[in-house]
Amino acid sequence: MWVKRDDLTSFAGGNKVRKLEHLVGEAEAAGATVLVTSGGVQSNHARMTAAAAAVRGLRAVLVLSGEPDPARPGNLALEELFGARVVVVPPGADVDARVAAVADELRAAGEVPAVLPLGGSTATGARGYLACAAELSEQLPDLRTVVAAVGSGGTMAGLVAGLGAERVLGVDTGAVPDPAERVTTLATALGATPGRLDLRRDQVGPGYGALTEAGATAMTTAARTEGLVLEPVYTAKALAGLTAAVADGTIRPGHRTVFLHSGGLPGLFGHPHAARLAGDLLARS
Ligand SMILES: *Cc1c(COP(=O)(O)O)cnc(C)c1O
Repeated sequence: MWVKRDDLTSFAGGNKVRKLEHLVGEAEAAGATVLVTSGGVQSNHARMTAAAAAVRGLRAVLVLSGEPDPARPGNLALEELFGARVVVVPPGADVDARVAAVADELRAAGEVPAVLPLGGSTATGARGYLACAAELSEQLPDLRTVVAAVGSGGTMAGLVAGLGAERVLGVDTGAVPDPAERVTTLATALGATPGRLDLRRDQVGPGYGALTEAGATAMTTAARTEGLVLEPVYTAKALAGLTAAVADGTIRPGHRTVFLHSGGLPGLFGHPHAARLAGDLLARS
């Protein structure tokens, strides 16, 4: 098994960097002065959008839904460092409506906002993973399966468009109700005819963001064998899905397999599981 270290990209790491390369280019071509995006309170995409804006001399406004807790700083601490403005909306509120209102306010103030959707998953954003697919093919021509977490779907869509659906195993994390439709739509927009997707939905557990037992085992195994740090929301579930695929014979010995590490380390420190890990350690001290 090989690991594609997309957790070691810029902006504190993660898969949104490849999408933002294309999304920010599109925004700048349209004359944008400010990037507006949305997500949960610990959105990695929001954090990386804030960093991309800082690098390009743009402003960033992040509409985050949920109940942020300064005792779990995670991505929030980085967003302050990157100089973003955050608008917090309560759980269950209409985030898209709030984003539209923020964009209107910005326009009225003479700014040119570019609104990036949840997870940066437009066809433009997904092009970042079409490029990653080309990179993987060059690095490992005999690659049989790449395994990736699926949130808003752009990552899997780009990989499917570049490698073919039969070489991509997506592991759903429960972020959206219709991941397969989203992946198919985005891959089609990239010019592919995706066919049947290999998308496991057996690792979601109680829901998006909730760590599963299999996910916790995957985190411990990766850390204690390779020093590789996963986080509960995406990568723990992706590795648990890979493990399940080995157990049920979908991935067999000799299959050249790549685990896409999509990042998210800052989010670990914004998740209750981090406090639990530290508590377990101290309880034994
Ligand atoms: C956003 C994210 C994903 C999911 O990527 P999508 O393109 O939204 O499906 C996976 N892992 C991490 C760490 C992420 O932040």
